[in-house]
Amino acid sequence: MDWVSKFADEVTAEAERRAPGKPIVCASGLSPSGPIHLGNLREVMTPHLVADEIRRRGHECVHLLSWDDYDRFRKVPAGIDPSWEQHIGKPYTSVPAPPGSEHPNWAEHFKAPLVDALDELGIEVRAISQTDMYTSGAYREQILRAMARRHEIDEVLAQYRTAEVAEYYPYRPYCTECERDLTKVTAYDEQSTELAYTCACGFGETVRLATFDHGKLVWKADWPMRWAYEGVVFEPSGADHHSPGSAWVVGGQIVGPVFGAERPIGPMYAFVGITGMSKMSSSKGGVPIPSEALEIMEAPLLRWLYARRRPNQSFNVAFDQEIHRIYDEWDALGRKIAEGRGLPADEAAHSRAVHTLPLTQKALPYRMLASIADITTGDQEQLLRILRDMGVSTLDEARPRLDKAQRWVATQLPADDRTRVLPQPSDEPLSDEQRESLRLLVEGLDEHWSLDGLTTLVYGVPKLQAGLPLDSPATPELKTAQREFFALVYRLLVGKETGPRLPTLLLAVGVERVRKLLSR
Ligand SMILES: [Zn+2]
Repeated sequence: MDWVSKFADEVTAEAERRAPGKPIVCASGLSPSGPIHLGNLREVMTPHLVADEIRRRGHECVHLLSWDDYDRFRKVPAGIDPSWEQHIGKPYTSVPAPPGSEHPNWAEHFKAPLVDALDELGIEVRAISQTDMYTSGAYREQILRAMARRHEIDEVLAQYRTAEVAEYYPYRPYCTECERDLTKVTAYDEQSTELAYTCACGFGETVRLATFDHGKLVWKADWPMRWAYEGVVFEPSGADHHSPGSAWVVGGQIVGPVFGAERPIGPMYAFVGITGMSKMSSSKGGVPIPSEALEIMEAPLLRWLYARRRPNQSFNVAFDQEIHRIYDEWDALGRKIAEGRGLPADEAAHSRAVHTLPLTQKALPYRMLASIADITTGDQEQLLRILRDMGVSTLDEARPRLDKAQRWVATQLPADDRTRVLPQPSDEPLSDEQRESLRLLVEGLDEHWSLDGLTTLVYGVPKLQAGLPLDSPATPELKTAQREFFALVYRLLVGKETGPRLPTLLLAVGVERVRKLLSR
């Protein structure tokens, strides 16, 4: 059984115990404080996969995505105008978006690319803006309860504290004058709910907390409050939330006594790394975001990377040549499933990855598409000519995979690794034996002009030269001769010792030009 099924079992049983007959609630939480990178995607993908499995079993299940957009703006990131300093302490929804953005505020600016990526990935969530919840007064009762039980909360927090705190309040108002949270609660009366605060800006007032909707619970009280409010049964979180005294630990101690609920089932998820993201394409400066990965890989492949690893296993998303190997693995899995040879865990990971998404109709190997895109440098007519030789009748049949491979070449393939077909025949001096091998290749082109045919031909030329039939088995001597022959062909076609797979290269260069470059 795969990890998703195991969690689905556990969550379904737990939900039945906690709230029989009610829709099962899985949750994710994201902060739109900056770019939401591929590691954060695990926060959404993990509950999505579990919720999807629960629904497949016929249960009603809700996947909430809580946007922590009412959290305070903490610091001005590098690259942003230092004048944004004045907004530190305001909720993200009250901070202007970075210069040049089309979005109304900081939070919306960073939410938008993730919302688009979730759509492309087939992930449906019920999004909740914490700004909307707090400012509409949805949590009034919960806030009053946390304030009434503040000594209990303080006692839990004190277990992890080293310094003394004079008077603890789990609630902080945003100043009604300057909108920042540089406020200090100076008095609170439980009967009247009158709360007095002062702000660093000099402002101060007394408000009635029962009707004042301009502040929020501090994170360690906020998170457990929402577990209770939403009835969350499953919510994973990152490693940073699992240390002693962290919100997950403290929240688990607070949620029962203060809010009368239980902590969700919540696996800790591990790091998602990146290999080879080239500087030129990372517009966001650093860790790529899901929409950048989706530019170079199909949504089912990206889903598969997350589905096939347990949450506590780390893995990498490849932006470099490694993407070819991952695509080969994915295609091999697809063939295995199609032939009915897949193991149950393989079948599960594959179906979770594909989900309801369409697959590329004619899925040619990604590395081949990348080679062709590299050689044709985006010439659509040439591209279609080559793909026709591979059994594709329209470019659309090869999409979206073709577009992703083209984008990979354009943004990730280093200039030094690009393939440039020589404009003129090379003047490399050739031995008689080399001339003979080229003659055998050129003479066989017409008859073998397909991927399989050319594969047989290029491996076969050294065999013919040795007086062996085309289908004779490889020997160590033959392998050496093949390597030398391939290197010769590469030098004459692209001026390097290596290049894209030779049959692909020959098809891409085209029969006329191959003849011109190899005939001696
Ligand atoms: Zn103020």
